[in-house]
Amino acid sequence: MAKKLQSIRGIHDGLPHDVARWQQVERVARQVFSNYAFSEVRLPVLEPTELFVRSIGEATDIVSKEMYHFVDQGEDAICLRPEGTAGAVRAYLQAGLTRAGQQRWFYTGPMFRRERPQKGRLRQFQQMGAECFGAAGPLADAEVLAMGWQLVTQLGLQELTMEINSLGCSACRPAYREALVNFLQQKSEHLCETCIQRIDSNPMRVLDCKNETCQQQLHDAPEMIRHLCSDCDTHWAGLQQGLATLDVPYRINPRIVRGLDYYNRTAFEIITDQLGAQGTVLAGGRYDGLIGELGGPATPAIGFAAGMERLALLLPETKAVSAQVTVVAIGDDNISTASLRHAHSLRQAGISTIHAGGGAMKRQMKIADRENTAFCMIIGEDELAAQQVVLKKMCDGSQQTLSLDAAMEYIQDSSLMTVGQK
Ligand code: ATP
Ligand code: MG
Repeated sequence: MAKKLQSIRGIHDGLPHDVARWQQVERVARQVFSNYAFSEVRLPVLEPTELFVRSIGEATDIVSKEMYHFVDQGEDAICLRPEGTAGAVRAYLQAGLTRAGQQRWFYTGPMFRRERPQKGRLRQFQQMGAECFGAAGPLADAEVLAMGWQLVTQLGLQELTMEINSLGCSACRPAYREALVNFLQQKSEHLCETCIQRIDSNPMRVLDCKNETCQQQLHDAPEMIRHLCSDCDTHWAGLQQGLATLDVPYRINPRIVRGLDYYNRTAFEIITDQLGAQGTVLAGGRYDGLIGELGGPATPAIGFAAGMERLALLLPETKAVSAQVTVVAIGDDNISTASLRHAHSLRQAGISTIHAGGGAMKRQMKIADRENTAFCMIIGEDELAAQQVVLKKMCDGSQQTLSLDAAMEYIQDSSLMTVGQK
């Protein structure tokens, strides 16, 4: 027998139940982004490999082992994007927007990283991200963090924590890095293989090693926030003042680093303890050096990205509703024709409708139940003769006999009411 075809490991299908949850996340996110005047951009999934090598940095996990890259038929080195920021900066530069004033963008779409698949860690996953180009100053940071916080709170997610840190800048980080490397070298015999390698290549990444024995060694590791230059220190204080003004609760976590090289000053994460090791649902920070790095004029910038699948895992379980009404026909072919016409009228009036297809009443009612529709519209011989329908409200079983127009009005009013109550 032929081998059963399966999706690639760590790459999942979005079936209706998943997509309904993603759409819920997207709906809230779009509202929040628009409250902050961020506009949507839709950027390519394929980018030149060099874009990520230059921006994210070769010493990172992403570039050193996680990228899906290939050489195409024209000998071009191409990569499936592992994240959205580098592509956004490329697009910003390519469109010549560096003198067009502040740009506030958001995006949503698939990202690709070949990592070890686990719950909340996939090889193709979706991110929703926001980038603000041309925003300097700590209050811009506070507003972007507040936007991220509003996104998760408006989704109704609870027990999340906003953690912040400062990564310093090119003036103060080298001295800190040296202090950190000295400290880590003294501890090196107790650190894991990966951390030992990172002491030279990317020492700050050692700070967020998930290995417990490594963490035990790091208790008194030097902290960037104690080594900030005076400009970074002022920025750090301003960020905290801004967060207090905007009522964003936060915790300082000196261990937050970003996996990507291009961040400076503010780094932050919104975390949960409900997803095991995959606890970061939203992460971001300031990256004032990246636009210059990719060939543009020095331009301050800040952004974040949230993992759609992780957010969706945290949403409360709800029973999927596929339509508002199920139309049920009791009787012969004439009645099925009438019920099909009624279903058509309902849909034309903007009411989502399932036509149960006639036949046995029990089977049709089962469809209404399974599809979890709010109403059943039942048509039998008497109703057809009187040009009426029976409208059954599924939540309490109450029924009324009405004209089709009156029934449609009733359904529309009641759906307006439930929207209003939310
Ligand atoms: P982690 O520490 O979990 O590996 P990261 O630092 O690599 O995260 P970022 O590059 O900052 O993650 O991406 C932002 C967000 O995208 C993460 O906080 C997470 O919610 C989500 N994310 C990242 N990688 C994955 C993945 N492989 N599968 C699902 N979601 C992911
Ligand atoms: Mg990662």
